[in-house]
Amino acid sequence: MPEDRFRAERESILVLAKKMCEAGLVVASAGNVSARVRDPLARAIAITPTSIPYDVMTPDQVVVVSIESGAAIESTFRASCELPTHLAIYRHRQDVDAIVHTHSPYVSTLSALRKPLPPIIDEMVVYFGGTVEVADYAFTGTDELGANVVRALGDRAGALLSNHGNVCVGRDLAEALHVALTMESTARAYVEALRTGGAVPLPEESLRLGRAMYDRRRDPQRGAVPNR
Ligand SMILES: [Zn+2]
Repeated sequence: MPEDRFRAERESILVLAKKMCEAGLVVASAGNVSARVRDPLARAIAITPTSIPYDVMTPDQVVVVSIESGAAIESTFRASCELPTHLAIYRHRQDVDAIVHTHSPYVSTLSALRKPLPPIIDEMVVYFGGTVEVADYAFTGTDELGANVVRALGDRAGALLSNHGNVCVGRDLAEALHVALTMESTARAYVEALRTGGAVPLPEESLRLGRAMYDRRRDPQRGAVPNR
């Protein structure tokens, strides 16, 4: 067997996918995780395979895929059916190096309601960049869903998928998972607030300050990554 040049990436994807499952953001084999491979010449991502529960998944089952063509590279298993959405995001967002897609409970509640998650907690603007918008509905795994998600995501760190779940992006896997965890906790706060009289919006000045922090964190020249 030749040495696997993507071994490190496959292992990182598996570790993160198990964490996502253990955190209750998905069950069994639901959701998916991807990241750009380190070698820029490969122009590829590593992504979880389809239909294999995380508790029995092994690194060699993680699939490496060309960002340009969508073809598998040195892989034997089939990529997650949400591959088109992952590829669409990597093609449109050069600042994104990792993606986590979840069906977490309160996020799914908002996605079923097709209700955006407005900035009602200070840290949301810092981590998400503003309101988490809802992508128009398209069936799972289609190119149409990918295009809708890219549009809803804009330059922010997450989007809801109508009647489905969310996508969360970051400069690395840890950051994408952090966005997913924060989005679930803030979605919960928002749903509970809706049930008990509604949330008070953040003041404009807080939105401006939070967004400035989000932009600073994304600027590779400054490199500051607070509160991770
Ligand atoms: Zn899904």
